[in-house]
Amino acid sequence: GDVPPPPTPRIFRSKLPDIYIPNHLPLHTYCFEKLSSISDKPCIIVGSTGKSYTYGETHHICRRVAAGLYKMGIRKGDVIMILLQNSAEFVFSFMGASMIGAVSTTANPFYTSQEIYKQLRSSGAKLIITHSHYVDKLRNLGEDLTVITTDDPTPENCLPFSTLIDETNPPEESVVVGGEDAAALPFSSGTTGLPKGVVLTHKSLITSVAQQVDGENPNLYLKSNDVVLCVLPLFHIYSLNSVLLNSIRSGVTVLLMHKFEIGALLDLIQRHRVTMAALVPPLVIALAKNPAVNSYDLSSVRLVLSGAAPLGKDLQDSLRRRLPQAVLGQGYGMTEAGPVLSMSLGFAKEPIPTKSGSCGTVVRNAELKVVHLETRLSLGYNQPGEICIRGQQIMKEYLNDPEATSAAIDEEGWLHTGDIGYVDEDDEIFIVDRLKEVIKFKGFQVPPAELESLLINHHSIADAAVVPQRDEVAGEVPVAFVVRSNGNNITEEEIKEYISKQVVFYKRLHKVFFVSSIPKSPAGKILRKDLKAKLS
Ligand code: ATP
Ligand code: MG
Repeated sequence: GDVPPPPTPRIFRSKLPDIYIPNHLPLHTYCFEKLSSISDKPCIIVGSTGKSYTYGETHHICRRVAAGLYKMGIRKGDVIMILLQNSAEFVFSFMGASMIGAVSTTANPFYTSQEIYKQLRSSGAKLIITHSHYVDKLRNLGEDLTVITTDDPTPENCLPFSTLIDETNPPEESVVVGGEDAAALPFSSGTTGLPKGVVLTHKSLITSVAQQVDGENPNLYLKSNDVVLCVLPLFHIYSLNSVLLNSIRSGVTVLLMHKFEIGALLDLIQRHRVTMAALVPPLVIALAKNPAVNSYDLSSVRLVLSGAAPLGKDLQDSLRRRLPQAVLGQGYGMTEAGPVLSMSLGFAKEPIPTKSGSCGTVVRNAELKVVHLETRLSLGYNQPGEICIRGQQIMKEYLNDPEATSAAIDEEGWLHTGDIGYVDEDDEIFIVDRLKEVIKFKGFQVPPAELESLLINHHSIADAAVVPQRDEVAGEVPVAFVVRSNGNNITEEEIKEYISKQVVFYKRLHKVFFVSSIPKSPAGKILRKDLKAKLS
């Protein structure tokens, strides 16, 4: 018989043309490229105190910190750990390290001693910069570890941050960095397993930032008087890249919030006339559902970006009703992808309208394909499969794990994301769910994110998560954990029926458990593994 011709591989690209990306530069040089023309503009505002630093001051302090780190023996390729909440010192430390070719590994300050120790050991960090009140967690971590603290009083055996601000000339000119040299060593969120150390180079970070904010028609257009809200933790790559680095490259002001609290957040948006808010779905839920929102003037907000976890169409629509003047859109990122794979074209300088629930279009200077889960062949429009990405922004490798690296990045340079999604005929990407999290009911696939989106859309439900429960007959069945909204007593039966009316039989909920909150990671991801543990 006739052998059918092999299908032509389908590769999706941005609607925006490729641009020149100066990714041979060191990251800090690239980010501060326009310094001379913006040195008097505010770069950072610390939300809790109102203290602000101009671009000139910020750059100056970063260089002093570079000199200070060098004086303490930190050299090119050495790793420092930044264990800080969002703060000016975070910015100074990260950029200062970059200037001498040192690598920052960022960690969650709420981590336990044990978790910090693990990351310290695997990253080989020689120095930690942290807040004084976390120092107790660092006792007994090792003799030769230098601990620098940012606030008074300086605990015993620690050095104050001021010792880093060295007045000698920074040695940065003599240290040649850039390209394939590592700049950041973030860890993945640990949503599906243990967090994995990800090596991001100067080249990958510059490429990712440029893909978002550079060019004649930037995909994410930041205007010179924009004020960008930085409430998401900078230790996570989303905030570090898409909030901090994007903003510095664009010369706009970053408003730092050291922790999320809805009242303070609304107050800061109103007071500083925030124009762009980078959020994660739990914050979108708060803004869409919390009655306090109505008492603030949020009219300055012109862009709202959500990323890091699925945001359903209905939730996106209900936030739109509260912020009618703003463009709402999503970005899709993954630590290993440098991190941004796609971004809403609604944020472009010449915006292209996008659909609710879409994660945007693949960034420029990159290729994206969707492959069939079994045949591995690339698929066309509207066919769900595993999303793969290729481009200079993706990670160099997993830290000390060549096997995991070659499992993630194939010989042709494609990074396999483990996310299931499709591209529609307008080139918009929709994430269905993670491969690892899809529930398998007999032969059928049930994406928990889809059921969660329906649940959250119910006015009596404040929050929800769906996980598989083992079942003798079906293998797995979907069950829900639900947080009722205030003063509500919606029942299990009512919830099951509400879902059954909207979905095919195999997606029906088999049980509903009422809980007071849904466990989530600091980047806003549902910790389904914690919920699954409750079932066994
Ligand atoms: P780990 O890999 O350690 O289990 P993680 O994958 O959650 O954790 P991250 O790199 O922080 O760690 O997150 C990347 C993942 O987040 C993506 O693979 C995807 O599943 C999810 N994600 C990011 N943005 C979106 C989005 N807009 N919509 C849906 N999912 C998203
Ligand atoms: Mg992951």
